[in-house]
Amino acid sequence: MTPRKVAIVGAGIIGCLIARELAAADETAEITVVDRDLAGSGATRRSAGLSLVKGATPQARQWSAASHRYYADLMAVHPYLPGYPVGARLILRDGTTPAEAGYLTADTERAQAGHWVLRDCHYADVYALTQAIAALARKRVRFLEGTKITGLTSAPGTLVLRTGAGDDLTADQVVLAPGPWLDEPAWRDLVRPLGLRVKKIVAMHLERQPAPGDELLILEEHDAFLVPLAHRGHWLFSYTRLEWDVDPEAIAAAPGLSREDIDQARACLGSHAPDLAGELSSGRVCADAYSRSRQPVIAPLDHEGRIVFAGAANGSGYRLAPAIARQAVDLLQQTWHDSLGQGATDDHQQV
Ligand SMILES: Cc1cc2nc3c(=O)[nH]c(=O)nc-3n(C[C@H](O)[C@H](O)[C@H](O)COP(=O)(O)OP(=O)(O)OC[C@H]3O[C@@H](n4cnc5c(N)ncnc54)[C@H](O)[C@@H]3O)c2cc1C
Repeated sequence: MTPRKVAIVGAGIIGCLIARELAAADETAEITVVDRDLAGSGATRRSAGLSLVKGATPQARQWSAASHRYYADLMAVHPYLPGYPVGARLILRDGTTPAEAGYLTADTERAQAGHWVLRDCHYADVYALTQAIAALARKRVRFLEGTKITGLTSAPGTLVLRTGAGDDLTADQVVLAPGPWLDEPAWRDLVRPLGLRVKKIVAMHLERQPAPGDELLILEEHDAFLVPLAHRGHWLFSYTRLEWDVDPEAIAAAPGLSREDIDQARACLGSHAPDLAGELSSGRVCADAYSRSRQPVIAPLDHEGRIVFAGAANGSGYRLAPAIARQAVDLLQQTWHDSLGQGATDDHQQV
């Protein structure tokens, strides 16, 4: 039997982990990852990279816990990977318990009124980590960087991806892992029925040197956190920026902070630490895809399930990427085996 060809479009943390997991699940599959830029250069590059176990539903918590374990195992096997454990303090509105906020009770311990210690958190340099994952996968996976996909068509028995240079790449299965680039002409019509939207994400930098032992502070009420990025020598303040239906192209072309980005960040941090808020003036901007359910989406986009979407990480794509990859690989395996079964039935009927 000829090996199947699988093309993964998008070499962010999600596309790269799908490639890694698919290579492990199917030793013969010919896997190609295509990105218009270098691996990890999309939302992944700007990520704050915080990982902890949290979820609004049992399934979301289970995905989060599985992903967190995945990173722990990966970093234990490859200790040079850029993941950094950090102590954490959770600040909840009075009367709210960590379990009500979606955390695992076993991970938390009450410190004082409204304050809880949260165990087992880490942050990562997700850009460096993604490139390292790509480097590990390269033994089995072909990477086509600097290669934009401009068309996706279906021909009898195959899918054809057209590149910006005019080349055609054929595949039996295609995974679209485009992060916030939902509106690309090659797939916008396929993706539209998923009802996804793109939201701006901003994280500010606080130019203060973290001291050893400084803790991550989670302001649950504001869906915000302040994390010491010791490896970069400054703090990062992540807050909720409600600007919807943004164009990641426009953000990428002018990746600067707006006045509103800065003012909203200062207002948010100001309610807890007014002395620090005024110091927020630099940072990072990108966008992410969001689903209505606020759960990631792993779904077939065509009738036969040959094209699979994986993403809509709702601003949590680092901490959920391993679970998203697992679901995507399971779906690819299932639709591939179904298609082989279908072929066998057809042959039998012809005989
Ligand atoms: C400021 C910020 C802070 C964040 N903090 C956290 C955090 O603390 N924890 C957390 O879990 N998550 C965080 N996130 C979210 C997380 O970074 C994203 O959910 C995650 O990186 C999404 O990964 P992805 O692989 O889906 O997308 P991306 O990394 O955007 O990858 C998509 C890739 O597709 C490529 N592509 C697009 N169009 C084409 C095309 N036509 N042809 C070929 N390639 C194409 C792009 O070049 C890109 O590399 C943060 C995000 C931001 C912006």
